[in-house]
Amino acid sequence: MTKKLPVYLSKNNGDLWLTEDEREDLKVNYRIKEIVFEGYSDFQHVMILNSYCFGNMLVLDGAVQTTAIDGYIYNEIIAHVPLSIHPDPQRVLIIGGGDCGVAKEVCKYNGVKLIDLVEIDQKVVEVCQKYLPEVSGNLSDSRVRFIYEDGVNFVRNKSLKYDLIIVDSSDPVGPAQVLFEKSFYQSLYNLLRNNGLMVCQSQSPIFHSEIMKQTFNRIKDIFPKTKMFTTIVPTYPGGLWSFTIGSKQYINPDPTKVRQIDTYYVNEQIIKHIFSLPKFMCKQIKVSHSNK
Ligand code: SAM
Repeated sequence: MTKKLPVYLSKNNGDLWLTEDEREDLKVNYRIKEIVFEGYSDFQHVMILNSYCFGNMLVLDGAVQTTAIDGYIYNEIIAHVPLSIHPDPQRVLIIGGGDCGVAKEVCKYNGVKLIDLVEIDQKVVEVCQKYLPEVSGNLSDSRVRFIYEDGVNFVRNKSLKYDLIIVDSSDPVGPAQVLFEKSFYQSLYNLLRNNGLMVCQSQSPIFHSEIMKQTFNRIKDIFPKTKMFTTIVPTYPGGLWSFTIGSKQYINPDPTKVRQIDTYYVNEQIIKHIFSLPKFMCKQIKVSHSNK
């Protein structure tokens, strides 16, 4: 009897396919060489699939999270932008980020003394450390503290304050839904030092514009300085992806801070112009698209 295929996978003419069900009228198919890992954790369905186009990929509840081929783009941009804005980040909190890719980027800064990585699902860290070293980098830096807890609970009433909080969450469904609430952003504000800042991925300006606008406005209601930036993530629906920064004080990046950092995507020019947004996005979030 042929083994039952895991959910989200199907066979077509003998080939194995992952179908990412982005929405009713948009599905993305990835041809798969091998199921490297598959199973349910206490929070979600977890897979590591070896794909023809993107190498090994982390898939949570059927959604591609990060891959060996393009994971560095997202992980570099969400980490190096805020790290080039804060003049001396020493304490960094990462919420989510179980693939360890963002933590790997933060570790490149010698001035950072402590990185708390608060991931709800230990299984994600385990499988990424074992099967996705291109992203996780076999992270074993003594500055990183792995805390397996819901990020919403962790940020409530904490005494230790941080210079930078990076919310590297999955999409606002399942366990990550709470990480898009205004009350969560308020908790982050309370957890930041007086000159601290936060950054989060704020979804697609093409396919999730309402969530993107809502995220930007919720953060803007709380933080004195709020900016949005973008990058292209080939394995995310539509490619173009948004990120939102909320800051208590600093908002202008120092591009020279990435000059000595080992990166594949981010460079001084990208950091220098990082807040240049396409006109349609300026209209979406009602910010001026002129240089002022
Ligand atoms: N960089 C990729 C992206 O943005 O899609 C991957 C993000 S990382 C894999 C997202 C992580 O957030 C997952 O490992 C998931 O388990 C974790 N997560 C979801 N909800 C969470 C919560 N409430 N608290 C802490 N971690 C959470």
